[in-house]
Amino acid sequence: MTANHVDTSVSFDPLAIRPDFPILAQEIHRQKPLIYLDNAASSQHPLAVLKAMDHCYETTYANVHRGTHWLSEEASGLYESARLSVQNFIGAAADCEVIFTAGTTAGINAVARSWGDAHVQNGDEILLTLMEHHSNIVPWQQLAERTGAKVRWVAITEDGQLDQDDFAAKLNERTKMVGLTAVSNTLGTINPVKHLVELAHAAGALVMVDAAQHVPHATIDVVDWDADFATFSGHKMLGPTGIGVLYGKRELLEKMPPFLGGGSMIKQVTTQGFTWGDLPARFEAGTPPIVEAIGVAAAIEYLKPIGLDRIAAHETHLAAVAQAELDKIDGLHVLGPDPQLKCGIVSFVVEGVSAQDISVLLDLQGVAVRAGHHCTMPLHDHLGISASCRASFYLYNTEEEARHFADSLATILPKLR
Ligand code: PLP
Repeated sequence: MTANHVDTSVSFDPLAIRPDFPILAQEIHRQKPLIYLDNAASSQHPLAVLKAMDHCYETTYANVHRGTHWLSEEASGLYESARLSVQNFIGAAADCEVIFTAGTTAGINAVARSWGDAHVQNGDEILLTLMEHHSNIVPWQQLAERTGAKVRWVAITEDGQLDQDDFAAKLNERTKMVGLTAVSNTLGTINPVKHLVELAHAAGALVMVDAAQHVPHATIDVVDWDADFATFSGHKMLGPTGIGVLYGKRELLEKMPPFLGGGSMIKQVTTQGFTWGDLPARFEAGTPPIVEAIGVAAAIEYLKPIGLDRIAAHETHLAAVAQAELDKIDGLHVLGPDPQLKCGIVSFVVEGVSAQDISVLLDLQGVAVRAGHHCTMPLHDHLGISASCRASFYLYNTEEEARHFADSLATILPKLR
C-alpha cells in the first residue's frame, strides 16, 4: 500500500494461516461459524504471539532495567530487543526514537502534552482532518483549550478522500501541528502521507501521523514519510492490548519535557528536584508493558514473512468482493472511496435501518461487525449520519467469509425495513 493505491496483483492464501488462530474456529449462536470482521477495532492473536508471551512469563519474567539479577537482565534484554524489532519494522533511524506507550491514544496525548505545551501558544493553529479518530482530535482540542490555539479542519471530498487543495489552503505560518491519519478507520481511505508531510513542512508545521490503521496492514517507513511523530497500537496488529508505540524524531524527542513523571524516566532525584533521563526511558515512566512488548515483537515476526504488501492486497480484495455484493442492495450506501483506493474497511449505512440493529442481527448469523460512530463523530456529523456499520478485514479472513457477510446482510435486511 503506497500513497493511496493498493497493488492487488500479489496473492495470499488465508487458509494456510487460519490454524494459527484457534479463536476463529469457533461456532456461535447454534453452530454458526464465527466470522470476525471487527479487525479495525482489535485483531486476533496467532499462537506464535500467545506462546512468546507465555514463554516469557514462564521463563524470563522480571521487572526491567532495575535489577542486577539474572532474570531482570534477561527480561531487559528481551524488552530492548523488542524495541529493535519495532525500529526495524517501521524504518526508524535509531532505537531511542521508539517509545513504548499504552497505545495510539497514549502516544498522541504524550505529544500533545510534551511537545504541545512547550511549543503551542495563543493564536497558533492545529490542523486536523475531518476523518481523524477521536484519539487524534481530543488531545489537540485539549491543547487548544489550555493554550488558546485554534483547531482547523481539512475537508474531505464527496467520495471520502482527503481534499488536498483544502489541506494546502489551510496551512499557514500559524500552523504548528498537523494531525493526520494514515488510514481512516471509518472510510478506509489511504492518505498520501509523504506528500502531505512535505506540504506541512513547507509551511513550517510538524506532523503527528496516526498510523493505528496503517501499521497492521501495510509497510511503513517513517523516514520515507518524514513524519515527525507516528503512533500505533499493538492490539490492532495481532499483538496484545496495553501497548503501543510512539515514534518521534530524535531531535524533537531530545528537546521535549517528559509528560509522565516517575521511576525510570529520571537521571537523578533529590529533595530539590529531578533531572530527566535519556531517551527512550525519559518517556517510559513507571514499569513498562514488558511482556506486551515481547508480544508485539512476536507479532512483527509473524507478519514479516507473510509480507505486508500481500496482506494489504488480500484485504483490499476482500473489501472489493464484499462491496460489489453490498452495492446490489437497495438503499445501502458504502462510505468512502472505491475499493481499489482504500484498505480492507467497508462501512455502510442502510436507509431507514439502524446500524445497531443490523449488527445485532448479523451477530446472530455469526458475523461480528461494529456499529456506531467508530470514534469519528465529526466525520459522521459531516456525512449527516449518526452511526454506520463497519466490516473490517484482516489477513485471516477469507473470500467465503466476505461473501457470507454480504449474503447474511441481504437476508436480514428485509426483516429490519
Ligand atoms: N486511531 C485510529 C485510526 C484508530 O482506529 C484507533 C482505534 O480504533 C485509535 C486511534 C485508538 O487506538 P487505541 O484505542 O489503541 O489507543
